[in-house]
Amino acid sequence: MLQSIEILSMVIKMQNIENLSPIIYLVLPCYNEEEIIQISVEVLESKVLSLINGNLINPASKIVFVNDGSTDKTLDILKKIKNEKIVIINLSANCGHQNALIAGLEYSLDKCDCVISLDCDLQDDVNLIDSMISRFRDGYEVIYGVRDDRSSDTFFKRFSAEGFYDIMKILGVNIIRNHADYRALSNRALRSLLSFREANLFLRGIVPLLGYKSCNLYYKRNIRVAGESKYPFFKMLSFALDGITSFSVQPLRMLSIIGATISLASLIFGIWALITYFMGKTISGWTSVVVPMYFLGGLQILGLGILGEYIGKIYKETKNRPRYFIDSIID
Ligand code: UDP
Ligand code: MG
Repeated sequence: MLQSIEILSMVIKMQNIENLSPIIYLVLPCYNEEEIIQISVEVLESKVLSLINGNLINPASKIVFVNDGSTDKTLDILKKIKNEKIVIINLSANCGHQNALIAGLEYSLDKCDCVISLDCDLQDDVNLIDSMISRFRDGYEVIYGVRDDRSSDTFFKRFSAEGFYDIMKILGVNIIRNHADYRALSNRALRSLLSFREANLFLRGIVPLLGYKSCNLYYKRNIRVAGESKYPFFKMLSFALDGITSFSVQPLRMLSIIGATISLASLIFGIWALITYFMGKTISGWTSVVVPMYFLGGLQILGLGILGEYIGKIYKETKNRPRYFIDSIID
């Protein structure tokens, strides 16, 4: 009798642990990743299973792969290795990394306690997930994966990324340095994030606006095991420009300041030119005409370009187009 009560209390205890352990959804956008997707699934699956076995996460936890309109065999491979732990969201076309991520996040809302987004090329160290979960269980709602080592990057990528963070800082945008899209969010934080309805959703800029209790976890970013980066120079540049113009109107303000400074300088220059004219020392020369002409011409075009960037943003926002279409969900 005593033994059966003990067994019963043990079962109840185990059930409690299970109930306490959070349901975690991992969300991974993937685009043309046929070379790595299989390894990625294996690594993530064994990570999730080990966390479940350790009672750290709930057995209802899942891995959500968002196929962002891949034109290679990514989807076929995913379908072949699909099991009950894996969900496949198949987008109707390539919508870009941020939109694919949002598709996965929207799917996960209210299905889990905590959602973790990461890239499927295994560059984000999956072992950080353990610490993310333990922080989540400690009550943190926004947990940033931050790279503390960029040695796996090319010199160019490192240089451009550092420059981007410096510009964002100068422009007064609150962005976590060296944090990309590897992060854990509580369901509440996720709901807040998804309430931003702007078309240009630059996630890493918006997440710090959410508030909630947050912390940084540091990791070393691995090199891509296979396949190649989907962010060549121009795509990266346009992503950075999007980030800057989505979060700061400082470039427009700087434009006004530069314009005002140059106008003042031209006024002084004009007065000086008049004085020298009346003094009979008329300036003749080509340089003094051509240099300001080119300079001001360049400045005007730059100004128009910056204005254009923002007008383009307004244009996109007013159209209010959907971010993605789902072709099928296999869960
Ligand atoms: N990705 C995507 N859609 C795209 C481009 C990229 O879903 O249009 C995914 C890609 O499969 C990867 C993640 O976004 O999982 C990050 O891309 P990538 O590794 O090429 O970027 P990098 O690490 O070089 O910045
Ligand atoms: Mg990558």
